[in-house]
Amino acid sequence: MGLGLAVDWREGLDAGDLSSEALVRASFERMARLDGQLNAVLSTEEGLSLNLARQADRRLRAGERSPVLGLPVVLKDNLNWTGLPVSCGSRVLGGYRAPYDATVVRRLLEAGAVPVAKANMDEFAMGSSGEYSAFGPTRNPWDTSRVPGGSSSGSIVAVSAGYAPLALGSDTGGSVRLPASFCNVTALKPTYGVLSRYGLTAMASSLDQVGPVAASAAGIALALQPMAGRDPLDSTSVDLPGRERLFPLGPARLKGLRIGVPVDYFGEGLEASSRQLLEAALQVFANQGAELREVRLPHTRFAIDTYYLLCTSEVSSNLSRFDGVRFGHRVAAGTLPGMIAETRDAGLGDEVKRRILLGTFCLSKGYYDAFYLKALKARTLIARDFEEAFASVDLLATPVSPGVAFPFGARTTDPLAMYLADAYTVPASLAGLPCLSMPAGLTAGLPVGIQLIGPALSDVKLLEVAQAFQSLTRHHLQTPPLPA
Ligand code: GLN
Repeated sequence: MGLGLAVDWREGLDAGDLSSEALVRASFERMARLDGQLNAVLSTEEGLSLNLARQADRRLRAGERSPVLGLPVVLKDNLNWTGLPVSCGSRVLGGYRAPYDATVVRRLLEAGAVPVAKANMDEFAMGSSGEYSAFGPTRNPWDTSRVPGGSSSGSIVAVSAGYAPLALGSDTGGSVRLPASFCNVTALKPTYGVLSRYGLTAMASSLDQVGPVAASAAGIALALQPMAGRDPLDSTSVDLPGRERLFPLGPARLKGLRIGVPVDYFGEGLEASSRQLLEAALQVFANQGAELREVRLPHTRFAIDTYYLLCTSEVSSNLSRFDGVRFGHRVAAGTLPGMIAETRDAGLGDEVKRRILLGTFCLSKGYYDAFYLKALKARTLIARDFEEAFASVDLLATPVSPGVAFPFGARTTDPLAMYLADAYTVPASLAGLPCLSMPAGLTAGLPVGIQLIGPALSDVKLLEVAQAFQSLTRHHLQTPPLPA
């Protein structure tokens, strides 16, 4: 049986009906049975996880009650968990093991969660499909001939296929939201700063956030509660207002809620079957007395260009540290420059190289003003669109993706087509806003997600609204056609 709703296991553990050890064993059984096919997991340390589970059981027996105590969680392989490999889906980190815990991991461990696996991902979180891992693609549990979405492919599939009730991914431009929509799970990209980035391998630092993943909004709230808040090790971190409302998460009142529907997101490019499901989802809100208002975000059309200029620029700088000197893999060569060049050539994949080249170009003398600086200005305009929209609505509802999960190989030969999968997810990232993806139904057996975007630091409210939606619908309870 898959490990579905975190809130159900929370109740079972608190009532003493089951143990963390039993849950963690079930998690390993499930991975052993299914991961040969799905390839969502890169490494595990079963003995360590079982020890942590037994510690959690002792805390439970002593009467401790907290959101994640005893719950299995899967970690994206760009998060440091002491002693385990942290490959970032790349060969260049071959043999490297985490010497410390990321702040989010440390906080989960202190709260008694039990990490059970490090999850596959697009190399260094660059990708939208889960096909760019050096360790082979992850498969979509709903249809194994299709991509699960990326870059947090393994974390999302781990929850979708029931390996664990909770997972952490990371989201720079959509990397938890897009795969969540392709695999019928719920995932949050918090307001920039709500989750510490200390120990999350940097991709594009001004955009990166850790993203919790679960089968429902209430599950995400369980994970978010112990992790959120300022961290002296990340100067961009902030406290989350309303954090005390996360456990237990209550539903929001939908009556009178003003939901903005951006016309710019529902135009050309959105598949008809996805549009139908999104309209039905909007109707669920309207039936409860929410008010749907058309809004305009006119600079949305610049979002992909802006994102890919800024992201590649930051990538070119952040990835310079993988040089064979300090971490992982090294190719021997006669000279130091030769060693660095050959290590990077052998260790990094094509998409990562493409971005380093593009980003280096954007930041070069003579091009900096034309590309990087201009993209920064466009980012301000995109953020201002949202500010203006939030003057008249409480949150926005949009598609997550132009369509459903695509077949393997459909976009790997055309980088632009791959980048366009992010059209609806990057604008909120550029503005640093909280946004989540949750299931809105199936079309021809494939999931479609809906995205909610809120003003800065409205993360808790966003989860409450999602919870209200999930209390009225059953989309999030649908599980993929895997063996029981
Ligand atoms: N698909 C986007 C990219 O490739 C987003 C990646 C991410 O959020 N990590 O840049």
